[in-house]
Amino acid sequence: MGATLEALHRLQEIELQIAEIQQRIDRKVRGCTRQKQRISELEERVRGQQEQQRADQIEADSLDVDVRAVEEEIAKLRVALNTSKSNREYHAVLTQLNTKKADKSKLEERGLGLLSQIDEKKKQCGVIEDERDKEVAKLKELEAGVTAAEEEASDRLNRLRSEREQAAAEVPQDALLMFNRVAGKNEGEAMAAVIRTHPKRQEYACDGCNMSITIEQVNSILSRDEAVLCNVCGRILYLESPAASGAR
Ligand SMILES: [Zn+2]
Repeated sequence: MGATLEALHRLQEIELQIAEIQQRIDRKVRGCTRQKQRISELEERVRGQQEQQRADQIEADSLDVDVRAVEEEIAKLRVALNTSKSNREYHAVLTQLNTKKADKSKLEERGLGLLSQIDEKKKQCGVIEDERDKEVAKLKELEAGVTAAEEEASDRLNRLRSEREQAAAEVPQDALLMFNRVAGKNEGEAMAAVIRTHPKRQEYACDGCNMSITIEQVNSILSRDEAVLCNVCGRILYLESPAASGAR
């Protein structure tokens, strides 16, 4: 390998190590994002339950008001019953009184049903809240994991970044620009080895995308110390060693 390709290759090795560390941290960060999503779904469910409870409570309160109104009517009918002046009037008032009493017990029954419904929903809500609290605790663990991974990687990343700077200084400017552009598109993987695909014939392929590489491209990597790109994936091609490649 010529000096430029060799320097690019060193740069690639460092770049890949940096990318690997970064990806490991990114995976953990994505885990946190998913966990936050889970928590906000649970919180949404808690809010929904609380809203329903409030609506049920309003209905229960209004039933109470209705019960009191019926009780007042019943009290008045009792007075009317005691002061009735004829047998017919007495029976008419008694019928009304019984109807009102039946109304009252229906209202009370509905009220009790509603109260036990509210209790049941409170319990359900408590279960969801417990679940949410557990997920919040899990999120804290995941976030601590991100911080720990970042701290752990920090020294190594700093070292690798300064190594990258040194390696980059040895690469000509135009080749470096090309390298950075290709690396940006391929998660740090700017280079691909040329592999020989046939033991006897001079047939080659790009190890990055498996598409074939012409013998002219292989020769130009060997003869000129400059970046030759794969026509398909755009990675900078290199040969592990001219002898292994068997070119020429
Ligand atoms: Zn390729």
